Amino acid sequence: MKPVLALVGRPNVGKSTLFNRLTRSRDAIVADFAGLTRDRHYGNGRQGPHEFIAIDTGGFEPDAASGIYKEMAKQTRQAVAEADVVIFVVDARAGLSAQDHDIAKYLRRLGKPTVLAANKAEGMQAGAQLSEFYELGLGEVYPISASHGQGIRDLVELALEPLHLPEPDDSAAEVDSGVIKLAVAGRPNVGKSTLINTWLGEERLVAFDLPGTTRDAITVPFERNGQRFELIDTAGLRRKGKVFEAIEKFSVVKTLQAIETANVVLLLLDATQGVTDQDAHIAGYILESGRAVVLAVNKWDAIDNYQRELVQRSIETRLPFLKFAAMHVISAQKRQGLGPVWLSIIQAHKAANCKMSTPVLTRVLLEAVQFQSPKRAGMFRPKLRYAHQGGMNPPVIVIHGNSLEHVTDAYKRFLEGRFRKEFNLTGTPLRIEMKTSH
Ligand code: GDP
Ligand code: GDP
Repeated sequence: MKPVLALVGRPNVGKSTLFNRLTRSRDAIVADFAGLTRDRHYGNGRQGPHEFIAIDTGGFEPDAASGIYKEMAKQTRQAVAEADVVIFVVDARAGLSAQDHDIAKYLRRLGKPTVLAANKAEGMQAGAQLSEFYELGLGEVYPISASHGQGIRDLVELALEPLHLPEPDDSAAEVDSGVIKLAVAGRPNVGKSTLINTWLGEERLVAFDLPGTTRDAITVPFERNGQRFELIDTAGLRRKGKVFEAIEKFSVVKTLQAIETANVVLLLLDATQGVTDQDAHIAGYILESGRAVVLAVNKWDAIDNYQRELVQRSIETRLPFLKFAAMHVISAQKRQGLGPVWLSIIQAHKAANCKMSTPVLTRVLLEAVQFQSPKRAGMFRPKLRYAHQGGMNPPVIVIHGNSLEHVTDAYKRFLEGRFRKEFNLTGTPLRIEMKTSH
């Protein structure tokens, strides 16, 4: 499971700037999905072979008495509690403040691995100017400049060091074991535990009693109609004996980790609530992770036809970037509509691992061009020559040709539609890359 780094510090020291730098590489991947809402406090980062989740905690006010600060402090505490490592950011230019002392005290008491970063240190001498920060009693002070990108690599390396992460070994790259790892994700109260318990109570479903042991994740392996699944413990869910029960505190970190661990994510919405901001954020994480996804709108039994219409419309407008996913309306409680969900989960998994040969891809491409050729842009007419598969899970299609930088987004969507139809890619994100040869 990905380690979690929490950025902590008083306002204005540069936490968001650092966060953006740590998580930026991933932004490019999802930049072209219109309507994507994301929570800018959680993001994926990578350094070398190691991936991590970064949390920007906003302002930290350990003793804030009331109002928004208290709420912020609460969220920060939760983030810190869930983090594997804390990066405590101070302002090298402003120097030490009373607040820094308070935060340091809190972190020392917590006893979590903490790295102290003195930001805005561009052009500073490491020695004299930073020496006052040793007073915080958190060990070494690392000068960085978030805005200039200095010292960041060393900082992350240092932060990850105490976790003793194994070097990923290519030969151990995940082989498809035939088991579909499934995460049921969604806000509190959408019906995750009801659904899972309904499933696990079905006699067609054979549960094995083999709790997984990766950190504190709990998984339940089971088989349905000959297909093996592994249910991943998700945010807000805990296994208690034979049933899952909802726990009160919703954890974005757990949600993210479950999504990352899964092969397929079932995103559960609550029909009585429509699509909320939190739903859209979770959907954004799923998309960013590149995981296969199935949408299910639960509690369909509880609303009338008029409301059903509204819910359907809110999904179209608020989650347009999940158009590629199958959507089901269900009632976990009344056991309605559940069968087709399984078929979509299996289909999404198959689509994510789809193998597309160069000849077939190229045929589909050329047929599409023949049906409708790309628009000329000034002197340039893009020439699409052939396509090959550049990756799996999620699938990537690389198109080769000339002047491809002039291919419009609308045309790319047209091509995407043709590929999706030909290869039956419902349920998986699909990336199309253009490679122009000059
Ligand atoms: P946050 O409130 O801790 O999230 O801080 P921000 O990331 O919003 O940054 C606060 C201010 O510090 C902004 O004006 C940033 O441009 C500036 N800043 C951030 N990092 C650096 C840095 O490395 N050097 C300098 N000189 N300014 C920085
Ligand atoms: P979780 O927090 O996502 O695990 O949600 P729960 O499974 O605890 O369900 C929250 C509430 O929604 C409970 O009161 C359930 O009885 C109710 N609920 C769950 N599924 C359905 C459903 O299909 N229809 C209706 N009407 N209520 C449901």
